[in-house]
Amino acid sequence: MDSKYPLIYLDASATCPPHFKVLSEIAQVEKNFWANPSSLHDLGIKALDILERSRINIANCFNVDPTQVLITSGATEASHLAIKGYANSIHPGRIVISSVEHPSVSAAANSLKQRGWDVEYWQVDKYGLIDISLLDKYLSPPTKIVSMIWGQNEIGTIQPITTIGKECKKRNIFFHTDATQVISQGLFDFNKLEIGAFSASAHKFRGPKGIGLLIMKQDFIDSIIPIQGGGGQEYGLRSGTQSVSLAHGMSIALEQIPVHVEITDGKISFQTTKTTSLTKCLADKLFKLNGLSSTGHPVNRLPNLISLIACSQKNIPVSARRLVRELSSKGIYVSSGSACSSNKNKTNSILEAIKIDHKFIDSSLRISLGNWLTELDVTYISKTISTTIEKIALSS
Ligand code: PMP
Repeated sequence: MDSKYPLIYLDASATCPPHFKVLSEIAQVEKNFWANPSSLHDLGIKALDILERSRINIANCFNVDPTQVLITSGATEASHLAIKGYANSIHPGRIVISSVEHPSVSAAANSLKQRGWDVEYWQVDKYGLIDISLLDKYLSPPTKIVSMIWGQNEIGTIQPITTIGKECKKRNIFFHTDATQVISQGLFDFNKLEIGAFSASAHKFRGPKGIGLLIMKQDFIDSIIPIQGGGGQEYGLRSGTQSVSLAHGMSIALEQIPVHVEITDGKISFQTTKTTSLTKCLADKLFKLNGLSSTGHPVNRLPNLISLIACSQKNIPVSARRLVRELSSKGIYVSSGSACSSNKNKTNSILEAIKIDHKFIDSSLRISLGNWLTELDVTYISKTISTTIEKIALSS
């Protein structure tokens, strides 16, 4: 990296730098408690103790019982386990997902087709928000499972998960949400949400990569059928030797989240933090001063994520991939769309779902902030982004 520029990492939605406490705790556990937590000898029992204490910590963060916490390799696996594990326990019906899901959820849903399930996509408006007036259409029989992303990872839109959860409960439908992008914005009381299960990945909240969780309501956990056989770990629901150090690292990362997502009368609100204030400040500069246009919902959105269309003042769209590379050479790390789709040459289903004009489809930029940024020169960043856009537009 060129040292004349500061390192400005604005790609929290892709992954976060692990918290320093997480790193030191992982090293300690790997050094002292490396045994297999299923072993009967003392070393195994000590490793199991760390694992179960981590599970208790995680459970406390969401006000659930430790038996409701399943440790997985990440959100991808957690969503597959929830959706397929539940679907396998009942007669096929219909699964409804939004048209702006992360591919891990749409892949899990689509895999059910071979077992006779129908998959229906709940369409979204230009802001990426589902049309709640279609509730009866989507939640009527034969719908048996609904999975809906809580905070969208590319455009930031927050779905009305409390309303959907309540309606699903009334109709005896299993409701799963992908909460991967939300946890870093605050912990929450799972009991206040009418949600059957949620998935998350530790690396999105400054924990280690390769570890995540599925938290489920007890009734649903009882009906899950494992999707992979093996040693029967995680209450027999997720076979595979647990990583004690990573599970511990995940619990330490959760403990570092100082804020809560407030849930009152089914209304969800995020607390203001230094990160969300910086995000707001940067968004104001980009949209008001530089005239860039945002994507995603203007109000119901992840408070640390800015998404926009990179367009010059003369309305010439620029390649977001090129913009990401140019900004990277100046020490500003952002993303074109999501990290999962930005390095593959396939169409962007999220931008298609919100019906972005095709001429702007390669110009989607995502800027996502995290709490390692205590101060940020928002003027420098917004100026650099707009001058770089103009420079690319001029040369193309
Ligand atoms: N869901 C969402 C919303 C995500 O942003 C991601 C990561 N991009 C995932 C699921 C998958 O997470 P992982 O790759 O850690 O399993």
